[in-house]
Amino acid sequence: MKILLHMCCAPCSCYCVKKLREEGYEPVGYFFNPNIHPYQEWRKRLKSARDFAEKISMELHVVNHYGLREFLKKTFPVVESLEGDDTVKNPDGRHNRCKICYAWRLNETAKFAAENNFEIFTSSLFYSIHQNHELMKKIAESSAKQFGVKFFYEDFRAGWQEGIDLSLELELYRQNYCGCIFSEEERFSNDLKKLRRKIFKN
Ligand code: SF4
Repeated sequence: MKILLHMCCAPCSCYCVKKLREEGYEPVGYFFNPNIHPYQEWRKRLKSARDFAEKISMELHVVNHYGLREFLKKTFPVVESLEGDDTVKNPDGRHNRCKICYAWRLNETAKFAAENNFEIFTSSLFYSIHQNHELMKKIAESSAKQFGVKFFYEDFRAGWQEGIDLSLELELYRQNYCGCIFSEEERFSNDLKKLRRKIFKN
């Protein structure tokens, strides 16, 4: 049975594809990630998704559009209204903007599944140990209901190390931040890290 697999990136998809195939599914990739910035990074991750699909002979559908402007339009009101708190005060994967980001990607996946005769979908987001798993699950279930398809749930985090090893074997590009420009700052800004340490100490 075919299953639509939303791919947040190639490395996170390695274990998911392996596991789904072992379980008798035929995963078909779907790349829709307007949360990846800046442009050259988005291009790199898209190329990596294409390379991966080719290497493992998986069908892949791509939304070939860099979505920075739409992403900011949707998330900036939340980021701005908290005067920086969303970036500074919340631990990884618990940001208010992430809820919007998850919902957008999972909703589009459910919609694409419904429009293209897939009965069921899932996402490589459920492989990440950095995301808000329970929140994503709730959102995916509600998207599935809205579009009349099924959501396949599996806690792919169980294969964390195996997924890393597979991505290294396949020589895939491995990014070092989640995706959006805010997450890039959180990953690399020492000032932000210092500020967070100060806040979380109190
Ligand atoms: S940190 Fe990751 S999940 Fe959260 S908004 Fe940014 S790209 Fe999306």
